[in-house]
Amino acid sequence: MSETVERHSFGAEVGRLLDLVVHALYSEREIFLRELVANAADAVDRRRFGALTDSALALPADAKVRINPDKAARTLTLSDPGIGMTKDELAQNLGTIARSGTRAFSQSLADAKPEERPSLIGQFGVGFYSAFMVADRVEVTSRKAGSDEAWTWASEGQGEYTLAPATRTEPGTDIVLHMKADAEEYLEGIRLETILRKWADHITVPVTLVRDGE
Ligand code: ADP
Ligand code: MG
Repeated sequence: MSETVERHSFGAEVGRLLDLVVHALYSEREIFLRELVANAADAVDRRRFGALTDSALALPADAKVRINPDKAARTLTLSDPGIGMTKDELAQNLGTIARSGTRAFSQSLADAKPEERPSLIGQFGVGFYSAFMVADRVEVTSRKAGSDEAWTWASEGQGEYTLAPATRTEPGTDIVLHMKADAEEYLEGIRLETILRKWADHITVPVTLVRDGE
């Protein structure tokens, strides 16, 4: 199996951007959850929109984003039944800078007051990388709606990522965060609930927090 794992380097820009996000926003680490749930909700919305013209994309009736902490494994998993990503989209969306340059982002960070910094993440479209504030390894397994192929993108946020064939019974995406030793608080149900409640009103898709061990 291991011979099918492809190794890729992040562009130099992504490496610098990752450092910026991880260090400049360290005091606001909890925003990783908002960013990942927002991405999951976007993906569900995109699938719902696609289903208007292509019934093969129809969402399951109980479509929701699941957040599943596992203290024993020290992982936090987010799963969504959204539009999913192909292999190429995983590489493109999670391995390159889509919208804006690192320089513009770092200049804006430097100019911003500390309390303004978290909102810059959303504006610059770099929310996914905030996962590396709390995780030292991130695995994204995705199956695009309408396809039966699944792929796993994985990275330790240190210059490279891998892509490998995977299986997923339904379209959608799982993001497994291998939490840093100093980020275990984000495996506590109460902590996660408190964070979610701060902006739950803005999320258009139901979010379920699975109790640890289920
Ligand atoms: P933004 O959401 O502002 O575009 P992000 O860094 O948060 O920037 O995410 C980058 C891209 O990765 C998204 O635009 C989307 O295409 C893709 N993506 C991230 N998470 C998911 C997901 N759960 N399902 C499908 N696509 C996703
Ligand atoms: Mg986002």
